[in-house]
Amino acid sequence: MNKIAIIGGGAAGTGAAWQLYKRLVQKNNAFIANDGRDNTSITLYERNSRVGGRAQGLTFAGCNIEVGGVLFHSSGKLTSEMMQFTGCKKGAPPFAINEKTDCCAFFTSAGFPVNARTSMASMASGIVKHVGIASSLRAASAASKIAKQYEEIYDQLIWRERDPFKTPDELFDALGLLEPTRISCEQYLLNNSINERMAYDIVEPMARSTYNQGREINALASLVGLAGAGLAKGNAELAGAAAPKKKMLFQSLINNNLFSGLSNGSLFVIDGGNWTLYDKVLRLSDVDVRTLTKVDKITIFSTPESKHPYNFRVLSRDGIVTEYDAVILAAPLALADIQIDLDGRPFVLPIHPYLEVQSTLVAGELNPEFFKQAAGTPMPNTIFVASSANSPFNHISSVGISPNYNCRIYKIFSANRSLTEEELTNIFNKVHEIQTHVWRGAYPVLTPGIRHLPFQIIPGLYFANALETMVSLLELETISGTNAANLCANYLGL
Ligand SMILES: Cc1cc2nc3c(=O)[nH]c(=O)nc-3n(C[C@H](O)[C@H](O)[C@H](O)COP(=O)(O)OP(=O)(O)OC[C@H]3O[C@@H](n4cnc5c(N)ncnc54)[C@H](O)[C@@H]3O)c2cc1C
Repeated sequence: MNKIAIIGGGAAGTGAAWQLYKRLVQKNNAFIANDGRDNTSITLYERNSRVGGRAQGLTFAGCNIEVGGVLFHSSGKLTSEMMQFTGCKKGAPPFAINEKTDCCAFFTSAGFPVNARTSMASMASGIVKHVGIASSLRAASAASKIAKQYEEIYDQLIWRERDPFKTPDELFDALGLLEPTRISCEQYLLNNSINERMAYDIVEPMARSTYNQGREINALASLVGLAGAGLAKGNAELAGAAAPKKKMLFQSLINNNLFSGLSNGSLFVIDGGNWTLYDKVLRLSDVDVRTLTKVDKITIFSTPESKHPYNFRVLSRDGIVTEYDAVILAAPLALADIQIDLDGRPFVLPIHPYLEVQSTLVAGELNPEFFKQAAGTPMPNTIFVASSANSPFNHISSVGISPNYNCRIYKIFSANRSLTEEELTNIFNKVHEIQTHVWRGAYPVLTPGIRHLPFQIIPGLYFANALETMVSLLELETISGTNAANLCANYLGL
C-alpha cells in the first residue's frame, strides 16, 4: 500500500493527482474494473472550501466573473486532455464582447498611440504604424521562436516520464529556453534590436497585464505572455484586410505568431467557471479531496521498518496527523504557511517572494479624459497600460455587461495597493457598484536568473510549483505538477 498526500488543489496539485491516476491506470487495467487503487491512495488537502486555487470566480453586478487565472490557450495539451476527460466545455473569453465594434488600446504618456478594433488586422496595422515594421517583425520572430520551442514541452514530458526533470533549469535547458529565463525582458529586447516604442509601449504593457510586472521580469515570461496574449483571432482576417503591398509583411507577422498567439490558437475560459475543471478532474480521478483542511506541518522521519529512506507525517489544522510514503507540495511556499521538520529540526527552504495584486471590479462608465481622450470618445474594452502612463493601475478590461445596470463591468489590476476613492472617481464617469478581490500572492516576482527550487526536495517530497518562479500560467502549473508526479511515481515504483 502506497499513501500519497498532495497539498493544494490548484492547477499544479490537480495536474499531479491526474498524472498519478493515469500512471496507475496504465500500470494496472484492473484498476478501473476493481475500482481500487492498485494499493495506492491519493489524499489532497485544500485549505479553501473548494479547489481551483488561483482559478476562482465570483458573482458581481449580475455576472459570473473570473478574478484569478482567466484565460487558457488552445495550445495547452494537458488542459485539452483534462477537458476531454471531464467533458468540460470551452466558454468565450470575457473580452470577446464584439470584435467588430469593441476596441483594444495601449495607454501611454501620449494617450492611446494604438487604439484598434480587437480584430487582428486592425491590431497589427495599429502596432506596425506606431513602432515601425522592423521592430514589429523582430518582436514577432522572437515570440515565434520561443513559442515553437516552448511547445516541445509536451514531447519532453512523454519522453522523460521515466526520467523526469529534476529542476526547472534542466527542463528549460532541454527546450533551449534557459537563456531567456536568465536575462530581463528589457535586455532581451535590446539584444534583439527591438526599438523603445515596441519595448515600452507594447511589450511591457502586455507583461503588466499578464503579471502586473514590467520589463524587469525574465524575458521568457514576458515573451510567452506576449505570444499567449492572442490579441486577435485568425490569419484570414488579417490577410484580407491588409493592403496588397503590405500583405507580405503582415502575413509574416502573423506567421511569426505575434498577433495570433501561440500556434495561431485561441483563448478561452471553462464554461461554468475555470475552477470546475480542476474539481471534476479530481472527482473523476477518485482522489480523496479534503477541503477546508489546511496543512500546518510536515514531519519528515526515517524508520528502519520502512522500505523508503523517508516517511512523512502530515498535520492538518483539524489536529489530525496522517502518515504518508510521499508528499507532493502543490502550493507556493510563500503562501502555504507550512512548517517542515526533518528529524526534529526545522527544514528551512528558501521562500521566493510573491506579489500582492488587487482585482477591482467596477460596474460603470469609463471617463475618457482620464485616458487623455476628448469627453464623449467611445472607450476601448481592453486597455494595456505602459509605465509611462503613470497610472495607478496596470491593466483594465471589460469582462462583461451587467444585466443589473446595463453597463460594462471592468476588471482593474493594481499591484501592492488598492485604488483610492479619488482615483476611481477620476477613472470613471459613473460607478454603480465596486468590489475588490485581494490576491495576497498573485504571481511570483519573476526575477531573471534566480535559483529555482527543484521538483524533488528530498526523496519522497516533491514540489509541484517549481516551474512557477520562471513563468506563472495555469497550463504550465499543470505541466509542473505532472513532472513532480512522475518523480513521485517512479520513486514509489508505480
Ligand atoms: C489575477 C490573476 C490572473 C491570472 N490570469 C491568468 C490567465 O489568464 N491565464 C493563465 O494561464 N494564468 C493566469 N494566472 C496565473 C495562474 O492563475 C497561476 O499560475 C495558477 O493558478 C497557479 O496554480 P497553482 O496550482 O500552482 O497554485 P494555486 O492556484 O495557488 O494553488 C495552490 C492551492 O494550495 C492551497 N493551499 C495553500 N497552502 C495550503 C496549505 N497549507 N494546506 C492546504 N492547502 C493549501 C491553496 O488554497 C490553493 O488552492 C493569473 C493569476 C492571477 C492571480
